[in-house]
Amino acid sequence: MDEKGRINLLDLTKNELTELVLSLGEPKYRADQVWGWLLKGCEICEMSNLPAAFREKLSAAARASIPEVADRAESKLDGTVKYLFRLFDGELIESVFMRYEHGNSICISTQAGCRMGCRFCASTIGGKHRDLSPGEMLGQIISVQRDKGERISNIVMMGIGEPLDNYDNSVKFLRLVGSPDGLNVGYRHISLSTCGVVPGIYALAKEDMPITLSISLHASDDAERSELMPVNKRWNIDALMTACRDYFKTTGRRISFEYTLINGKNDTPEKAAALAVLLKKYMGGMPCHVNLIPVNPVAERGFDRSAADRVNAFRDKLTSQGVNATVRRHLGGDIDASCGQLRNRSS
Ligand code: SAH
Repeated sequence: MDEKGRINLLDLTKNELTELVLSLGEPKYRADQVWGWLLKGCEICEMSNLPAAFREKLSAAARASIPEVADRAESKLDGTVKYLFRLFDGELIESVFMRYEHGNSICISTQAGCRMGCRFCASTIGGKHRDLSPGEMLGQIISVQRDKGERISNIVMMGIGEPLDNYDNSVKFLRLVGSPDGLNVGYRHISLSTCGVVPGIYALAKEDMPITLSISLHASDDAERSELMPVNKRWNIDALMTACRDYFKTTGRRISFEYTLINGKNDTPEKAAALAVLLKKYMGGMPCHVNLIPVNPVAERGFDRSAADRVNAFRDKLTSQGVNATVRRHLGGDIDASCGQLRNRSS
C-alpha cells in the first residue's frame, strides 16, 4: 500500500482484480480491459477505453505502478542493459536485460538490498531495506518490455535480494508471471537462485512449478562456505544438499549449482575434486549442472577473479569426474551488470 492506502493493481491475480472491479460496481469485462493495460505498463490515467468516472473510482482505491526507470546503462559490448528503478516509496533496485540466441532474458531483483551477507556480493553491502511485492517483481519485466519494445521470454531471479527470504511474494510473482492470461512465461524458462534458505527449498518443491532451482554453493566444505556465506552457519552443506536431493526427488527438475571462482581461494584442482565428491555423494545418479562464475570484482570486497587457465582446469577436473560443468558467459562487463555487482544505489 502507498501512503494513501492504495493497493498496487499489479499485485493482484486476474481473479482478485475481477473481484475489485465488481466491488466497485462495474461489469466484469472492465477487469479484462484493465488487465490488458496493466500488462502493457500503463497507469490508470492512460487506460483510455475506461469511462472517466470508473478511472476516478479505481484511482481512489488503487494505483497501477510499474517501477520508474531512474537510469539505464547499455553495454557497448553485447547490448546488455542495466536498469536502475525507483519504486513508489523511493527505494532503488536494479534489473538487467540480456539478449541471447534463444531469446531475451531479464534478471530481476526480489528485495531492496539483502541481509544474507555473502562476502563477495555487492547487493548485501547496505543490508536489507525491504521486501519487494509480487507486482514490483512483475513490474520490472513490464517496465523493461515497455522500454525496449520487445518481449522477454526468460526470467532469472538472481538480481538484488534473496527470493526465498521473501518466499510468499516470490511464489505469488511466479504464479502471476506464469499465468496464461498474464505474461505467460513458461516455468521452464524461469530460474530462481538461492544462497541456501533450506526451509524455502522444501516449500518450493511442493509448489508444483517446474522452474529451475539454482543453488549458490561456492564452496564444498563448511569452514570455507561459512566464511564466504554467513547463511551456511544457519543451514550447513549437509542440510542444503539434503534439501536439494529432496527437491529433485519431488520435482524431477535438474538442479543448477553456482560456484564463484575466487583466485587462490576456492579455485584449486583439489577443491574441484572435493566438489565432485560432494555432488556425487548427495546427487549421485541425479542430473545436475555446475555453473562456474569467475568472481566479478566488487571494489569493497577485494577478491580477484581466477585466470582463464585456472577456470578451465577447474571445469575440466569436474568434467573428468563425471560432473557436468560450464563457465558462465560474461555479459555487461563494461556496465557493472554482472552477478553480484548490482547494488541499490546509482553506481
Ligand atoms: N540471493 C540469491 C540470488 C542473487 S545472487 C543467491 O544468492 O543465489 C545471484 C548469483 O550471483 C549467486 O550465485 C551469487 O552467489 C552470485 N554472485 C554474487 N556476487 C558475485 C560476484 N561478485 N561474482 C560472481 N558471482 C557473484
